[in-house]
Amino acid sequence: MAPDRDLEHLHPVYRAVVAGLYDELDRRGLRFRMHEGYRGRERQEDGKKRGKSKASFLQSDHNYGLASDFVGDVSGINPWDNSHDWGAYGECVEAVGLEWSGRWKTFRELVHNGGRGLFSYSRGDLYRGALADVRDDPEWRWLEWWLSTDDMAKTSTRIACMQRIVIRLGGDPGDVDGIWGPRTHDAMALIIAPCGIDTDAVDLSGAEALAVLLGELRAVVTKVCE
Ligand SMILES: [Zn+2]
Repeated sequence: MAPDRDLEHLHPVYRAVVAGLYDELDRRGLRFRMHEGYRGRERQEDGKKRGKSKASFLQSDHNYGLASDFVGDVSGINPWDNSHDWGAYGECVEAVGLEWSGRWKTFRELVHNGGRGLFSYSRGDLYRGALADVRDDPEWRWLEWWLSTDDMAKTSTRIACMQRIVIRLGGDPGDVDGIWGPRTHDAMALIIAPCGIDTDAVDLSGAEALAVLLGELRAVVTKVCE
């Protein structure tokens, strides 16, 4: 399974900083390139099985589009070779405000950089759907893609994101706990029923209802921003 190098699959705030990282590398004449950015469920679980990662899906910042691995990009040299100036790469990573895991004491990784610190989210916050906080997600395309990807289908993270959006729209799903209970169901139905959706006929935790929810949120935020 090939690594995902699509910059569009990174969180927009982190993506902008990665662009800055490329500039910084360029400025110092260093040749590195992104090897992997977003990592879906299948690749994460496969990597864990093969001992390449200790994390299950949703335990790595890669799974939220908030981390990437860079490798050396000099022709004729193995991208992972020790002769690349990893320390200089790490300096660039930190200069643009990202975390470099070359400093980690356990599971030290020269290639990895992460942008969770841009938001001061804990990984638990991410798991509980913090990415649905609209102030941090100005780019709807990304949130829509991320929530609708098969990797996220039916996970508690996706449901937690939906709960946060429902709250943002004035609904009351109770605690943001990622559990699809009757209270979340009813709050969701109240929000999307006026949009012409037959709430008895669709899966309210499913993609169709999610699209309506995101449309409503977009309308609200657009109004606020005008
Ligand atoms: Zn990594």
